[in-house]
Amino acid sequence: MGNYADIAFPSAVRRLFTYQVPKALQGEIKPGMRVWVPFRTYNAIGVVVKLHNQKPDFEIKAIREVLDQSPVLDTSLFKLTEWVHQFYFASWGEVIQAALPSGLNFVSKEFVRINPDSSTQSLSEKEQQVVNEISMHEKLTLLEANKRWRNSGFSVSKLIKKGALEVWEEPFMKVDLKTEKEWDWAEGKSAHIATQFLQSATGRPAKWKTALSALAQSDLPKRDAQLSAIPEFNSTTKRRLQDDGWIQFKKVEKEFNLELEYVPGSIKELNKEQREAFQAIGESISKEQFENYLLYGITGSGKTEVYIHALNETLKMQKGGIILVPEISLTPQTVSRFYKVFGDEIAVLHSRMSDRERLQAWNALKSGKKKIAIGARSAIFAPVQNLGLIVIDEEHDGSYKQEDPSPRYHARETAIMRASMGNAVVIMGSATPSMQALHMAAKGKCQLLSLTTRHADARLPDVEIVDLKQYSGAMKGNLAISLFNAVENALSKKEQVILLFNRRGFASYLQCGICGHIPQSPECSVSLTYHKRRNLLLCHYSGYSRRADTHCEKCGSGNLLIRGSGTQQVEENLEELFPKAKILRFDKDSTSNKGAHEKILAKFGNHEADILIGTQLVAKGLDFPNVTVVGVIDADTEYAFPSFQSHERMYQLLSQVSGRSGRGEKPGKVFIQTRQPENPAIQFAKFHDHEGFAKEEMGFRKPLNYPPYSRLIKFVLKGKKEHEVITASESLKNIALSVVPDIELLGPSASSIGWMNNNYIWELLLKLDPEKGGQYIEAVLSKIMEVYSRKSGLSSSKVRININVDAVR
Ligand code: ADP
Ligand code: ZN
Repeated sequence: MGNYADIAFPSAVRRLFTYQVPKALQGEIKPGMRVWVPFRTYNAIGVVVKLHNQKPDFEIKAIREVLDQSPVLDTSLFKLTEWVHQFYFASWGEVIQAALPSGLNFVSKEFVRINPDSSTQSLSEKEQQVVNEISMHEKLTLLEANKRWRNSGFSVSKLIKKGALEVWEEPFMKVDLKTEKEWDWAEGKSAHIATQFLQSATGRPAKWKTALSALAQSDLPKRDAQLSAIPEFNSTTKRRLQDDGWIQFKKVEKEFNLELEYVPGSIKELNKEQREAFQAIGESISKEQFENYLLYGITGSGKTEVYIHALNETLKMQKGGIILVPEISLTPQTVSRFYKVFGDEIAVLHSRMSDRERLQAWNALKSGKKKIAIGARSAIFAPVQNLGLIVIDEEHDGSYKQEDPSPRYHARETAIMRASMGNAVVIMGSATPSMQALHMAAKGKCQLLSLTTRHADARLPDVEIVDLKQYSGAMKGNLAISLFNAVENALSKKEQVILLFNRRGFASYLQCGICGHIPQSPECSVSLTYHKRRNLLLCHYSGYSRRADTHCEKCGSGNLLIRGSGTQQVEENLEELFPKAKILRFDKDSTSNKGAHEKILAKFGNHEADILIGTQLVAKGLDFPNVTVVGVIDADTEYAFPSFQSHERMYQLLSQVSGRSGRGEKPGKVFIQTRQPENPAIQFAKFHDHEGFAKEEMGFRKPLNYPPYSRLIKFVLKGKKEHEVITASESLKNIALSVVPDIELLGPSASSIGWMNNNYIWELLLKLDPEKGGQYIEAVLSKIMEVYSRKSGLSSSKVRININVDAVR
């Protein structure tokens, strides 16, 4: 109960707004409900996050309407959104928005209508005419109005500014659920009654009797499509049986059709190692106690089988589970393996679904009709009831971190928080665990379980490291002659080829043509990016810069190459090299269409193309038995990416590529082209030595205080005028240093993207103690931003600031 409500809006503004709760609504309003309130010059939808009796010392408005009968988020999810709001410094409204399916979202429509309070005296003839016309419409959206008069050069917004029109926002909430026909026995009829009836039925056509008997033997209710698939049923027989009062049909929600197969009892028996891992996990599940497990198992060791057993145990406890996968359109096999075992208990949350389908899946989970959610990052907010288990498959994957827009949360950390709040168990699974996860294990914050052998004897492919420095005279386009020959050979045998070309970021860099060295920042040990126009080498973290080298700092050679080209060129180049081959391209540009991932992969899987070329995305979906050659065109681009994680990313990419190919009958071969064959990430990947790599990598990060030894918080400043952005960055830096005196801060520096959409982008990087929680982070960042907005003198519209907690790039 309370006279006042604090309300969050789905905008970037972090603060809450206080409203009066009208007498009539008291007792009806609860935190987590959406309300309709006057906001600035119009009305808006917000969510009640707190009720209280502290009268604010300023004038407040009253809530107009409550939009929900019960909270849209249950208490535990609501608490989770509060944590994300604090920890990732996002606005609470934005977090709630991200946690809801789009169908329930805050999306509203803006309408224009005549402002009843305005006088029409100051309007021109034309304006009066437009106002009259608008008054004839019952509902005209702002979009329609703008479109309508734009061509005649008339601006509707001018009329809004003058006060003649007002903007009216209405919640856009109605989502029609798609329905389909479902058949069931009519009132008072059943299979048993039908069977009895048939024994004595006379004078009925034989066809009719066959149909009724088929019905009696089949399970009702059935979807129309399923019933029609039975040979005895066509539209006539169905109509007859309906008219005679035996069956009836009703409309039910249509389910997102996965076209997957449910095979009852298909759960496999675990081998010894798997059983040991499962035993520990299963015990935690049955104790209903929070526990975090890192399941470290080489590719093909059967991690998925362990997840399945853990889920099974969870269902036995009458609890539900969430399975997070990196990108659902790239992992159809994983989804279908879960579906085989759990069938209709599963709700898949797929980015390809329409709003309506997502809402349906969400409702099925919220009502407890389905118990398991499977999906990418945002499925961590799925309203699974009585949550007992969260699985994070491929825990190390970069897609678990949301970059833009806010909330910039990490699904792994959010999962751990959700589980610990609700006494659930977490399994983080990976063949190449992240440094974060390994660090947790080392500090006793999660329990390490290992699977060290492959279940089936599948052979790991041979990995050949191709030192490009040795091939300078023996290149065919971008391919060393050995890779070129292998591709030709595969094509001649009608086998397929995957070529990976990494294009992370947009930056160029310098690389020594003799020793392969890439200049590194002396302060931060990340690769320096090369700015051609200014002929500078720049450190993207600290802002360090110097004139571009003319000679290699390592070997003294004057042979420095400018690197960093795109996929497009490589593709054109390949067409010339292999004129008869069909080439498919797979990257962000070619896959922005809905469902394009699947289509490209399916096409390649059906051998409609011979060569698949793409960015690191390809590596995730690699599972094509006919692929015998995989080539990484330039491993060094990943390493050159200016990030503290670049070695880890390179190592993961290479392990993934070499762990996944050669799964079929034919042995596979992987070629890794590089100018740094001795690079530890490449060497460790070749020998599948993750421990060795992790040891080396931690040794690199610790003295530089990179994560997991610190928490990186990135401030991104954007504006149209570069000098304003730089001034703002300097001012923010000084304020941060004065607010938290012994803080470690890098920058400001021009972002590696530099300039985008007419905006200059600069960054500051803060390193905080990783042991500190959400409240500390929120306090520090609030303080910095509060002082900044008071002192900097720059309006937030000139230089916008985004904050990215746990920035990984
Ligand atoms: P991971 O998830 O670790 O990459 P998978 O679970 O995909 O490994 O296992 C690789 C293959 O081995 C799959 O085809 C899987 O069905 C099979 N497999 C794993 N464990 C078992 C088991 N206990 N019994 C039968 N087959 C298994
Ligand atoms: Zn050199």
